[in-house]
Amino acid sequence: MKYYLIKWTNNLANGFGGTAQGPIIKILSKYKDDVGLLEHEKVHVRQWYAVLALGLLLSTLLTLLVSPSLWPLYGLAPFVHQLLYKLGRPYRRWCEVQAYRKQIAIGGYTSSEFAVAALVEKYDLGLSIDEARALLID
Ligand SMILES: [Zn+2]
Repeated sequence: MKYYLIKWTNNLANGFGGTAQGPIIKILSKYKDDVGLLEHEKVHVRQWYAVLALGLLLSTLLTLLVSPSLWPLYGLAPFVHQLLYKLGRPYRRWCEVQAYRKQIAIGGYTSSEFAVAALVEKYDLGLSIDEARALLID
């Protein structure tokens, strides 16, 4: 089952080659043949589904066990991954490290230094080059 949608585009913000929002992946058309980049974004889609599932489960438990008036929590579940990603540096770091590890494993690149540089420069993770390299290789 295909669990994501791809939209090819000629325009993404801030020098990114791809993005994932919920189940929707956007990738620059010039990277259409970059299977590693697609795998990277698919990791983010799976992260979104996992957090969505946990959010729905938590909403169900709270609605059943605490109060039926908590049902509006269901509406927040689709946004928890994005919120954690934006506000939580450790979560954002975990998400990107998982995605880059998969991208490197699948992509067939001659070097993984692009991923080290991206982790250091693009995501406000506060990582040094050596820390980023260690996270990707371990
Ligand atoms: Zn990413």
